[in-house]
Amino acid sequence: NLGKTFSDAGGLSFTSSSSGVRAVDGASFSVKAGETLALVGESGCGKSTLGRLLLRLIQPTDGEVLFEGRDITSLSAAEMRMMRAKMQMVFQDPYGSLSPRRSIAQIISEPLEVFGIAKSARQRRERVAELLTQVGLSPSFMDRYPRQFSGGQRQRIGIARAISVNPQFIVADEPVSALDVSVQAQIVNLLQDLQAERKFSYLFIAHDLAVVRHIADRVAVMYLGRIVEIGPKKSVYSMPQHPYTQALLSAAPEPDPDRKASRIVLQGDVPSPSRVPPGCSFHTRCPIAKDICKLDRPGLREVSPNQFSACHFATPNPLTQAG
Ligand code: SF4
Ligand code: MG
Repeated sequence: NLGKTFSDAGGLSFTSSSSGVRAVDGASFSVKAGETLALVGESGCGKSTLGRLLLRLIQPTDGEVLFEGRDITSLSAAEMRMMRAKMQMVFQDPYGSLSPRRSIAQIISEPLEVFGIAKSARQRRERVAELLTQVGLSPSFMDRYPRQFSGGQRQRIGIARAISVNPQFIVADEPVSALDVSVQAQIVNLLQDLQAERKFSYLFIAHDLAVVRHIADRVAVMYLGRIVEIGPKKSVYSMPQHPYTQALLSAAPEPDPDRKASRIVLQGDVPSPSRVPPGCSFHTRCPIAKDICKLDRPGLREVSPNQFSACHFATPNPLTQAG
């Protein structure tokens, strides 16, 4: 159990037991303090649900979420409210997540007020000015409204709001997916710079492995509510062991022309979470599926140091085993 060993060391871990129909099933992982775990998979794989479970924006039906050693699923509403300051979310859609009738100062200072971080109105305005500077915006913007900003600027405002309460853990749910490609790298760089300064941990959700290539320390690949591969970034990108990871990687823009030859194209869409295929849930789309895959569900196995893959045909890598 990845979670148990981790729980003493600060940071966050998640475990859910496995049964029935649900969006997130039998997933288990941890995020260390100061680390970025990227959570990647196609739309409909349960990534956002998992992100919301971790912050208890959705109450899990079972399993546990250990944050700094405490299971937050069993906290009272009042205890959870205080915990919220430590766990924040950056949303996918900067348009939808900022209230159009509130000024930037009101939006960013709301959590400061709720958590009693800046007590007077003047303190809050000072804090908002600092936060705007930290996310690369002019403090003079604070009395304007979200509609006056571009998508990238709005996402900076959303980030300022999330970091205003000095969180230790941030779920960034596809924070750049709604933005122009030219702006995406700027926002990823901003998130990375803020982390270097403030040492918080991210669960960085993306549907595309290219987006998280620079920011991730480790990568978890999710398919139909289960983590099918998880490991250090270097191993997952250079030696993916699960066919689903391989397909996601070959769909990403590839700077190395030698790799283009091995492009794997996935057929069809992700099946409905209410009709998860038996055996390996990926077998209906897997280019190398065999009969056993329809019957027997593979568990995560360690295939190279700290890299786990849930495929019957994942082969431990002799190079990394030796090295
Ligand atoms: Fe494909 Fe079978 Fe491996 Fe599943 S267990 S990923 S179906 S080869
Ligand atoms: Mg989503």
